[in-house]
Amino acid sequence: MVDLNVIASLCKRRGFIYQSSEIYGGLGSVWDYGPLGAELKNNVKNLWWRSMVYERDDVEGLDAAILMHPEVWKTSGHVTSFKDLLVDCKSCKKRFRYDLIKTKSCPECKGELTEPRPFNLMFKTFVGSVESEANEVFLRPETAQGIFVNFKNVLISSRKKLPFGVAQIGKAFRNEITTGNFIFRSREFEQMELEYFTDPEESDKWFEYWVNERFKWYQQYGIKKENIKLRRHEKEELAHYAKSCYDIEFLFPMGWSELEGIAHRTDFDLKQHAKISGKELSYYDELAKKDIIPHVIEPSGGVDRAFLAFLLDAYKEEKVRGEKRVVLSLHKYLAPVKVAVLPLLKNRPEIVEMAKAIYKDLRGDRKVQYDDAASIGRLYRRQDEIGTLYCVTVDVESLEDKKVTVRDRDTMKQDRIDVSMLKKYIEERTR
Ligand code: ATP
Repeated sequence: MVDLNVIASLCKRRGFIYQSSEIYGGLGSVWDYGPLGAELKNNVKNLWWRSMVYERDDVEGLDAAILMHPEVWKTSGHVTSFKDLLVDCKSCKKRFRYDLIKTKSCPECKGELTEPRPFNLMFKTFVGSVESEANEVFLRPETAQGIFVNFKNVLISSRKKLPFGVAQIGKAFRNEITTGNFIFRSREFEQMELEYFTDPEESDKWFEYWVNERFKWYQQYGIKKENIKLRRHEKEELAHYAKSCYDIEFLFPMGWSELEGIAHRTDFDLKQHAKISGKELSYYDELAKKDIIPHVIEPSGGVDRAFLAFLLDAYKEEKVRGEKRVVLSLHKYLAPVKVAVLPLLKNRPEIVEMAKAIYKDLRGDRKVQYDDAASIGRLYRRQDEIGTLYCVTVDVESLEDKKVTVRDRDTMKQDRIDVSMLKKYIEERTR
């Protein structure tokens, strides 16, 4: 597996990921996505949305606000339970997550550690102009609660029948103690969460269904079979709301770590919110002629972790005719740039003109780059390194025969295509 530093430096150099506020020395474990990173991240999210919402008829989307009524987080248990145990080193003053350190002394300087104490991971801020406890709100540490509190709204407006799900993608914030490993553990990140509401009697079946479905999804879009596995949580490990839980783990360079969690949340959240808000959050079962509180199955994945996993498994170094070729063999839906248009001779105005016309014709529905700033060998290498699916070159003959050369990223095979057929050729292969 490629070293994380190699990926981090490629990400910086090619505009995938920068450190946040870098010119001020950065902000710990907060990251900015550059031009190509924004494309890849959008593609990850769009792919998830496509699989979870568009390709199904039992799931609707939602986009809830990041700020919520503070009572939500008391009811959900986050105010009391969303804590990690923290230890401080008495010598170097560094802080560590108690459950992640394997030694009794400081992992950095071997100094003596304090007793572990709980530390709440939620960020606080204030609404309105007065900074008082009464105006305190939290930045959401998960997107799920936005779905639970809107359960009745979505049910009524979409007229869904059980089982049905609500999907949401959005930012979440956690004041993580142990950070690092690039974007794997950030303080601001994005989640892709589905809350799937089922009849309590059928919930175990759906739990299994979603574990399999999500496990397949990553492999379908580029994660290697040998780098992904399922791990069932031990009883002691389960979150306060969960009856059972599987982690989908990926073999990151630092070892097997969580990519996504699939939890059986029972009726914990709906019941709690109904109790505390005094609003009825049930579902009328027409067959049984009674109200039921659905159980919830929750596949919860991180956009940033999926981004990193897809990138790691796509990264390849090859030898081609004695030269090193770095290529990102990302799935066609994920590749940030679909096509690059490259004029072979940039000092021939007719060639440049033709290449620019092709570029303008292809862009719009997909990300296309135009590049004439190097020799063709260098241009190909630059595009391979960012995973561009097709390179279209325009040469002197193109002026005569109105044909261009299309090079495939993975096979490096070249096709000579009639310009009038090019858009169709690309559409067929990137759809
Ligand atoms: P971990 O044990 O690694 O702290 P978690 O079990 O607390 O993760 P969940 O609460 O299950 O994570 O969150 C669901 C998903 O959100 C995770 O599988 C992960 O992909 C993502 N996620 C959670 N915390 C972070 C973070 N700090 N940075 C990036 N992604 C995160």
